[in-house]
Amino acid sequence: GLKTQVALVTGSTSGIGQGVAESLASRGCNVILNGFGDPNAIKTIQNDIESKYNVEADFVDGDLSKQEEIQKLCQQIDELYPKGIDILVNNAGLQHVSPVEEFPVERWDLLIAVMLSAPFHLTRHFLPKMKTKGWGRIVNLASIHGIVASPNKAAYVSAKHGVLGLTKVVALEAATSGVTCNALCPGFVETEIFKKQIEARAQQEGCSYNEAKRLILQLVHPTMEPVGVDQVSEYVAFICSRAADQMTGSIMTMDGGWTAR
Ligand code: NAD
Repeated sequence: GLKTQVALVTGSTSGIGQGVAESLASRGCNVILNGFGDPNAIKTIQNDIESKYNVEADFVDGDLSKQEEIQKLCQQIDELYPKGIDILVNNAGLQHVSPVEEFPVERWDLLIAVMLSAPFHLTRHFLPKMKTKGWGRIVNLASIHGIVASPNKAAYVSAKHGVLGLTKVVALEAATSGVTCNALCPGFVETEIFKKQIEARAQQEGCSYNEAKRLILQLVHPTMEPVGVDQVSEYVAFICSRAADQMTGSIMTMDGGWTAR
């Protein structure tokens, strides 16, 4: 279990991050949530986690595209947990789709800031206390787009490739300290975003939801199934367990066979 430990999961107000926060909490870990969303909805997530798993679930506000806000978030967490956190899950992310010639410059800056620079700033801040304690976990939620590319996703693919580099450097620097740093690369995960993409495709093709899902998956997932949020969350919990002490600098795929062909 992860009793008495503390995890910061960025972007945990929805999707994968929320699933990861729950799966860590279910193992007795206190969690710190972050991300955008309706304050009442966030409060509900916190209350649910606290009552279901008997752990602390704090929420720390902060737009991770802004360095000043990251600094404030770090300060707030230092006040909440002066001994530092044990687990950092860099999960917050967003997509923008556009050919590179027309890619809005501010969108490029935003995606790189949230998915590459924020993990750097947070690692930089939280790693020293993990090293002092002699144990820690940094898990970077990358993507299969950290390994392969798709057209029209210049910023996303670049940020995800970049965070794999950061993962390996941090793993080496922390290698003898008891702190590991790993990255997870999921293919299509069945979140709201994916469901919306299927609905849009169904409308575009004038076909059923299931047919649209098949059209999207047949291009990329040989298994013809998306990855479940619970499957990613369980994998993160495994990486955070003692059984994974010797896994560091690893780039792990969970992609329905995407990169096997
Ligand atoms: P999501 O949109 O459901 O969740 C993204 C989270 O990040 C939300 O909580 C959002 O509020 C937060 N966020 C976005 N911008 C932020 C900012 N500037 N500051 C703070 N928080 C911010 O998406 P998801 O599918 O759960 O994605 C989570 C991670 O998994 C992302 O890094 C994404 O790239 C990665 N991923 C997703 C898929 C997929 O198919 N859904 C596949 C591979 C990797």
